[in-house]
Amino acid sequence: MPHFRAILDTMPPYKAGKAVVSADGRSYKLSSNESPYDPLPSVVDVIAEGARQINRYPDPAAAELTEAVARRYGVPPEHVALGAGSVTVAQQLFETVSEPGAEVIYAWRSFEAYPLLADLAGAVSVRVPLVDEAHDLDAMADAITDRTRMIFVCNPNNPTGVAIGSAALTAFLDRVPDNVLVVLDEAYREYVRDPDVPDGLGFYRERPNVCVLRTFSKAYGLAGLRVGYLIGHEPVAAAVRKVMVPFAVNHLAQIAAVASLQAEEELLERVDAVVKERTRVREALVEQGWTVPSTEANFVWLRLGERTLDFAAACAVEGVAVRPFAGEGARVSIGDPEANDTFLRAAAAYGPHTP
Ligand SMILES: *Cc1c(COP(=O)(O)O)cnc(C)c1O
Repeated sequence: MPHFRAILDTMPPYKAGKAVVSADGRSYKLSSNESPYDPLPSVVDVIAEGARQINRYPDPAAAELTEAVARRYGVPPEHVALGAGSVTVAQQLFETVSEPGAEVIYAWRSFEAYPLLADLAGAVSVRVPLVDEAHDLDAMADAITDRTRMIFVCNPNNPTGVAIGSAALTAFLDRVPDNVLVVLDEAYREYVRDPDVPDGLGFYRERPNVCVLRTFSKAYGLAGLRVGYLIGHEPVAAAVRKVMVPFAVNHLAQIAAVASLQAEEELLERVDAVVKERTRVREALVEQGWTVPSTEANFVWLRLGERTLDFAAACAVEGVAVRPFAGEGARVSIGDPEANDTFLRAAAAYGPHTP
């Protein structure tokens, strides 16, 4: 038997959201926070045309997409680093800071990729429990040591949907030393409507140790193509580019992302529709008697404790796949109105107080 790294024995495998099918053949996938919309025809056309070139390697620098992102946000192209999904950019970030003893702080529960990436990179995870489903930024700042290399702040938080306000984030960043990298993971930025939730790019502009992670997977509807990016100052973006596996972002992903930025207005109208549905779903759940934290993302969170898997099974009977975290709660993506109605019926039938 080959000798593998010991960490592989204890590393939690990443569990992706699954699809389920009801007895009468209905299936609503509300388990991965994807866009419920089919891709835009204009984007599909670009991908179909691009398929004619897949005998060639992609542009390793993804120059056109890098330029397009830089233009979109008014930042220098040198401040942009791309990856095969922002999960891969996050992995690249871990690669840039991890060395024996290096500590990375993040809230818990938060995005389930963080512990996995920390283990893979050989970093020490320092998990700071949520308070009232939100980041405990005071405790996170208290957790900083001289071994801290990086801090992830997921805003709004996956899976609870709760976002951090401007004053709290400013006060937190003021406590972080310059030599600690802060990553603002804003995978759901486009869904934020609370004006008090800051755009992380404002902090990046003022602070060289702050960078922002964004993705084309959620609001832009390209989850299947794998493309995300970081915006950070030159040393940060350059380090992340340096550890990128060559050709990681494929040609179709590059051109589809460029086309999606061009079609942004149309895509953001869809985001508006999802946000309206989010309000409707949350209000209906509250009406049913559930406690639902206010969410700035494209999902809602139900803290179900020991009932979590039972609840997920009850939803599955109706063909609704949710994302359960055993013993904690279930995250439910906002889908199209039919999917949401089906979920709401399942939730009502289960009842918030079912033992
Ligand atoms: C979905 C998600 C991502 C993005 O993943 P991709 O790799 O870009 O598909 C990143 N961070 C968080 C918190 C997410 O929920």
